[in-house]
Amino acid sequence: MSATTALYGTPRVGGDILAHCTRCKMELAHVVVSMIGGTPAKVQCKTCKSERKFRGSSSARRVVPGRAAPSRPRARGSALWEEKLAANSGKETRAYTPRTTFQNGDVLKHVKFGIGIVEEVRANGKIIVLFREGERMLVHAMS
Ligand SMILES: [Zn+2]
Repeated sequence: MSATTALYGTPRVGGDILAHCTRCKMELAHVVVSMIGGTPAKVQCKTCKSERKFRGSSSARRVVPGRAAPSRPRARGSALWEEKLAANSGKETRAYTPRTTFQNGDVLKHVKFGIGIVEEVRANGKIIVLFREGERMLVHAMS
């Protein structure tokens, strides 16, 4: 009935604690190096001996990487596309073919990508077209 001998018992300096080692890239036993108010502040990986700030085990703070991020650029591109399409609504929509010559601001219809607005005409026979899903580089004026 004396001091706890449990491997992952109450944290104390010199005791063991489970933490995520950023070097070993896995959940491993660490030695508590220092404590702040009953919470381990610094721990050392028993496997690779590297020291780090204790942030709890990774399972307790499960991070879902990039959950909010990916949809943003597409939404912004889509809004820009709608804006540009509205600004060029009076224009005739021409079917895209690699042989057709396009100019800046032309509205075209691509078989696969749908309606697009020519944003930029490049000297090398390429055009930058903004489609709903984003910009694409297409060839034009091919003879
Ligand atoms: Zn380690």
